[in-house]
Amino acid sequence: MAREPESGTHYWPPGLEHGEHGELRIAGQPVHALAAQHGTPLYVYDAEDAGERIQALRSRLPHGVRLHYAVKANPHSQLLHRLAPWLDGMDVASAGELLRARQAGIAPGNISMAGPGKTDHDLQAAIHAGCVIGVESFGQLHRIADQAREHGHRAPVSIRINPDFRLKASGMHMGGGASPFGIDAEAVPEILEEARHLPVFVAGFQVYAGSQNLHADAIVEAQARSLALILELCPAGIIPEFVNLGGGFGIPYFPGDRPLEITPVTEGLERLQSQLQERWPETRLVLELGRYLVGESGVYITRVVDRKVSCGETFLVTDGGMHHHLAASGNLGQVVRRNYPVALATRLNNPETETVNIVGPLCTPLDRLAMRVRMPHAEPGDLIAIFQSGAYGLTASPAAFLDHPLPAEIVL
Ligand SMILES: *Cc1c(COP(=O)(O)O)cnc(C)c1O
Repeated sequence: MAREPESGTHYWPPGLEHGEHGELRIAGQPVHALAAQHGTPLYVYDAEDAGERIQALRSRLPHGVRLHYAVKANPHSQLLHRLAPWLDGMDVASAGELLRARQAGIAPGNISMAGPGKTDHDLQAAIHAGCVIGVESFGQLHRIADQAREHGHRAPVSIRINPDFRLKASGMHMGGGASPFGIDAEAVPEILEEARHLPVFVAGFQVYAGSQNLHADAIVEAQARSLALILELCPAGIIPEFVNLGGGFGIPYFPGDRPLEITPVTEGLERLQSQLQERWPETRLVLELGRYLVGESGVYITRVVDRKVSCGETFLVTDGGMHHHLAASGNLGQVVRRNYPVALATRLNNPETETVNIVGPLCTPLDRLAMRVRMPHAEPGDLIAIFQSGAYGLTASPAAFLDHPLPAEIVL
């Protein structure tokens, strides 16, 4: 079980909307009305808010850099539909996600499929659609080739490189050292040689070094090293259509977290773009972001069903918990459990008069949503909001645990 740190002031999302009587509003709508209409627990995604963030980022990216969305961060089909017009493409990790991206209106040529465990069914779907497939192993390359042969055309692939460096200050490493993801840097020449004899063509290269990084300098350095590695490993005979520098831009969750400074990152990308164009004038840089685009645009709403005191500590028991929001419970890769930003959504303006533990309904001590937080006095029936819940929420949680009903998900 993760250790509990000292409680601190939590990160408070900017632009929090207070309605009448200090009630939280999301996209202009009061939470009690949303809860009455859709039930609780409930995930609410503000598509306009995500769209604004995407456009703000785009307006600062160097001209020509393509922005893709990693569907696994939040695959809600209505959300994808709303975000699609602002994006250049999507990254998917299964046949199911591929279908969602297609249904959202993304052209197959702008979809790439990543993931170490692609089944033959996934590969078939990708080849049938004509999307780019990220190669994560020698075995996978051969299975892609087998499927391509059956379809009678060359499959576009990108070589995902497992870099020989680690992304500094990243919440979760996705490469550097032994890894299920990508081809070890030193094996790249060999796999490119093998690919020459197979019905595939190398459309691009990709490095994705890690997730949830709030340090601009670490991101800039990792991207520069990724490009340098690709330039070094790509033989003279290949001119890639794209170089994908991955995702991993973080968002603030915890006390002391500061939002990622985007200016140094976009300046770094300017430099990389000129470097890239010196060698390959037609090759495009691609970013593929998940969390940064949608994470701040989602709120998880859960209702207090009971209030009790045990050994001097107050517990608010809610109808939602770790089965819907594993990340907020601290069980999705956290070493030290910290609280997501949380608020008593029905009484935002009341003074914080007590320290409470907010726990879910599951019969395990792991089911905690917020520990030792300062809150206004709450009663059963009140609504709790957990912010920064737009990415890696419901679909990253063990939703079937104890057979509690699924939360609704709505896009406003
Ligand atoms: C998950 C994933 C991303 C997005 O990661 P974020 O940390 O959410 O930006 C990008 N690329 C690949 C290959 C991924 O698996």
